[in-house]
Amino acid sequence: MIKNPIPWPNGARCACAITFDMDADSLIHISRPADSHDRLYPVSMGKYGPEVAVPRILQTYERLGLKQSFFVPGWCIEQYPAAVESMLEQGHEVGHHGYLHEDPVRHSYQEQADWFGRAMDAHKRIAGNIPKGYRAPVYNINQGVFDLLLEYDFEYDSSLMGDDIPYMLEYRDRKLVEIPVHWGTDDWPPFAHYEEIGYMMPVKGPADGLQPFWEEFDAHYESGGFFHCIWHPFLTGRLARWRRVEAWLEKTLEEKKVWFAPLHEIARHVRDWSQSNPIRTDQLPYYREPPLASAKAMGQVES
Ligand SMILES: [Zn+2]
Repeated sequence: MIKNPIPWPNGARCACAITFDMDADSLIHISRPADSHDRLYPVSMGKYGPEVAVPRILQTYERLGLKQSFFVPGWCIEQYPAAVESMLEQGHEVGHHGYLHEDPVRHSYQEQADWFGRAMDAHKRIAGNIPKGYRAPVYNINQGVFDLLLEYDFEYDSSLMGDDIPYMLEYRDRKLVEIPVHWGTDDWPPFAHYEEIGYMMPVKGPADGLQPFWEEFDAHYESGGFFHCIWHPFLTGRLARWRRVEAWLEKTLEEKKVWFAPLHEIARHVRDWSQSNPIRTDQLPYYREPPLASAKAMGQVES
């Protein structure tokens, strides 16, 4: 069911990545800047990520021999260096995820460049890390960010939703790997409730909330695809949820032919494969101006 599937290393039927975006309490500070410091419950909910969930997740990964990817805003690296150092010490990848989880489309290209550079500095200064992969906060990447990815020599982006498996993006005569995401494997819909940032959904129980992810895995496993979770330590790293994930990981690693890898390894594999094989390649930008603007200019729609 997948056109031009990519063969995975060692005969694996499915590539797998459980990625965690360690946003911590950046979310409340960027959305309620006037008084976020005194909103103690959301700050504590965010701090649970680096302080409680990340050590738990890393312990599981270490026991099962997994290397995975984390995306961490620069400010969170400054606030929680121990969590990030542990990730790197254990051989995981730490990717770029903005500075304070700022939404790219809400800022000018120049402001975005400033935030982006500040985050690069935090990665390097605090963790000795030079990220090669990027995920936009709330997936809201735009062309201004793609210019920055080229400027800083990134290998891949993981913010777009254009396919089931990784594909290539061509922009300004350069190529980047896109490692696609989608809302069906994001843990925000089943597990987040965050009234302060305008997100109010009924929280599902651990088994119910995780079930759609396992269905996604089954479909990808049957099709030779790519199972990619986009999770958050303060959500899926909670005790009862992680207990179920851990049991699923144990069973899957034992019974299935899967390739769990950090995204930069998957990106490298895909790039190598693309050198001599057909692969989906999207040209950016998709549009040079909003379609409605050109329709108005041609008098096709009322302004
Ligand atoms: Zn995030």
